[in-house]
Amino acid sequence: MPSFVMTEKCDGCKGLDRTACMYICPNDLMVLDKEAMKAYNQAPEFCWECYNCVKICPQQAIDVRGYADFVPYGGSVVPLRGSEDIMWTVKFRNGIIKRFKFPIRTTPEGQAVPLGGFDVGPDDLNDQCLVTEPASVGVDVLPTK
Ligand code: SF4
Ligand code: SF4
Repeated sequence: MPSFVMTEKCDGCKGLDRTACMYICPNDLMVLDKEAMKAYNQAPEFCWECYNCVKICPQQAIDVRGYADFVPYGGSVVPLRGSEDIMWTVKFRNGIIKRFKFPIRTTPEGQAVPLGGFDVGPDDLNDQCLVTEPASVGVDVLPTK
């Protein structure tokens, strides 16, 4: 399920040309309605639910309707990004709340190593390996049926 903007919280990143959600979306889905000064997801069907926009929004104005197997109805998963970590608040349907804190990656912009330094993998569309496999899982060959 795609991301959506809670318009009452969005301030259009105070009129910046490129809002935080526009900057971070890997799919260029977020756009700013400059009249209303509100952002929106222009093509929800292409949203990967990667949560990048949710994590970066300074107003906590974006949410994702999680898939039912990940976030059953009545539950919620909300990230809150700090300067050194992200706090995830997970609310279960029965009211139980759990929080997990994870450090964020601090690799400077432009210095991330693509694919973790692994080769893409077999150049064969019919191969069942995912990108970078089998090397990235530490084996020479993956078992097949
Ligand atoms: S990052 Fe948040 S506050 Fe900024 S434009 Fe996007 S939704 Fe609005
Ligand atoms: S969840 Fe990811 S793909 Fe979807 S709009 Fe946000 S940043 Fe883009």
